[in-house]
Amino acid sequence: MNAFEALGLNEQLVRSVTELGFETPTSIQEKAIPVLLSGTTDFMGLAQTGTGKTAAFGLPLLQLIEPGQRHPQALIVSPTRELCLQITNDIESFKKHSRNIFTEAVYGGASIMMQIRNLKKGVHIVVATPGRLIDLIERKAIDLQKVKYVVLDEADEMLNMGFRDDIDFVLKNTVNRESTWLFSATMPPEVRAISKNYMENPKEVTVGKKNSGNVNIDHQYFVVGAQYRYEALKRLIDFNPGMYGIIFTRTKADAQDISERLAKSGYEIEALHGDLSQQQRDKVMGRFRTKNLQLLIATDVAARGIDVDGITHVINYELPDDMEVYTHRSGRTGRAGKTGVCLSICHSREVYKIKSLEKLINSKFHKVDVPSGKEVCRKQFFHFMDKLMQADVSHGDYETFLPDLMTKFAEVSKEEVLQRVAALEFSHFLKYYENAEDLNRIESRGDRRPVNQDMQGGRRDRGNFSRRDSGYTRLFVNLGTKDGFYKASFLQFILDESNLKKEVLGKIDLRDMNSWVEIDKDAAGRMIKAIDGKRYNNRTIRMNEADGGFKRPSDEGRSRQYAGKEKRSFR
Ligand code: AMP
Repeated sequence: MNAFEALGLNEQLVRSVTELGFETPTSIQEKAIPVLLSGTTDFMGLAQTGTGKTAAFGLPLLQLIEPGQRHPQALIVSPTRELCLQITNDIESFKKHSRNIFTEAVYGGASIMMQIRNLKKGVHIVVATPGRLIDLIERKAIDLQKVKYVVLDEADEMLNMGFRDDIDFVLKNTVNRESTWLFSATMPPEVRAISKNYMENPKEVTVGKKNSGNVNIDHQYFVVGAQYRYEALKRLIDFNPGMYGIIFTRTKADAQDISERLAKSGYEIEALHGDLSQQQRDKVMGRFRTKNLQLLIATDVAARGIDVDGITHVINYELPDDMEVYTHRSGRTGRAGKTGVCLSICHSREVYKIKSLEKLINSKFHKVDVPSGKEVCRKQFFHFMDKLMQADVSHGDYETFLPDLMTKFAEVSKEEVLQRVAALEFSHFLKYYENAEDLNRIESRGDRRPVNQDMQGGRRDRGNFSRRDSGYTRLFVNLGTKDGFYKASFLQFILDESNLKKEVLGKIDLRDMNSWVEIDKDAAGRMIKAIDGKRYNNRTIRMNEADGGFKRPSDEGRSRQYAGKEKRSFR
């Protein structure tokens, strides 16, 4: 017997999933389908995207629908338009052999009149985003009276996005529902509250351990000074020539800035951010999905609902503040049985977070050095040579050129040809990395302990993690509130003067007459140089290291930037 049939699915559905290439049910499907087919049991599934959860609820729903009754019987609520469309597409393919079941996706950013017209024709399953659904309910364009099944997909994301009231509203207005099925990647108290308020003895199923990460993902982290993040990111991309990845940043400005810089250097990258129109967003996503775009860079908000198969790498330009966000980010790779890598660029003051993350996802993180310029070049070179050897020469008339080529190259050795090909392909690239510096944090005595101890399960945690050990130094400056500063203006002043980024700063202690500034050790010299001795309101500013023993770092200069486009290849 087919394994899907054994779960109780009818012949038409089994035929569809077989045609889709599903051979064995995934863990969540195995656990959920038999329960959900009863139609009357409330259900909570702790499962991330990539686990096959759409089929886990989609297949039983299709079997429970009564095609003869043309009104909404099932309502699936999902956080974003992308996810909404993805679910609808999946359901369309699952119901290929099930006749006369109609589905409608309703979401914002598309014509509501068209959606109302389609709903009027009589549909069985409505897949909706919360905002548009409420709109339709208020316009009385959708009748929820006969909805028997409500599915909340990615419930944690919906709550993160502020849809709590909308979910309450929907659950209160589906008075005749026979069961509620909730899926969520994490189970914060707010999600538990939904189950408490609206569900009865839900059957709870967890795929893998609670909050556990996907075993197919290799979690790696790199410790670099804050001002080297961009350079480190570039190295990581260059070191992985076949990368098909998503880079996450905390801010929209970073996403935009990095994408512009990388695009200028010839990388296939686009940023996803809230300022894009739906049409522009679809265009970017289309290019990414079809692999015409190698890299996507996005903030967590902009990346919500992105569901793309085959992502090889997720890169955290910075670790997220909210640890659970890490699970969402890394879950974009290592899907459907494939392996993936999640790379995190950390500042030494973020390293303490790694230990919490290891606990959260129940997986070990590997500390890896940022590759040297030489290593990057070597990797690129062999990648190119592999491609050269794999080039398809079976078509085309290459053979007809051979006699002439043989004559031309009669005096040239194989080694020389290889060298020349390499020079042609890599001269720009080699030049860029010629004097590339070591980006790995040179661990001072202060830095070393947290890094290593954390990896070995040492006892340091956020509570006793001293900032002085974390790669910061403290600067004294004879400016204060008496000079008319308040915190924001003071911050602005020292950043403008030194041309440094906010990320290099730690705590600022602004007093009446003077202040203390915590700053990344590697950036301290530059700040002192820029500010010490300058005049402000007819006074000479004095800035120096507060605790003594500070040596001006010799390696402040950035690696030499190559102004042209580096030749790169993806695929
Ligand atoms: P989901 O978690 O629903 O986003 O599914 C992730 C991916 O796994 C989708 O591309 C599905 O088509 C695929 N998938 C779902 N169930 C199976 C299965 N039993 N066997 C193979 N692939 C599956």
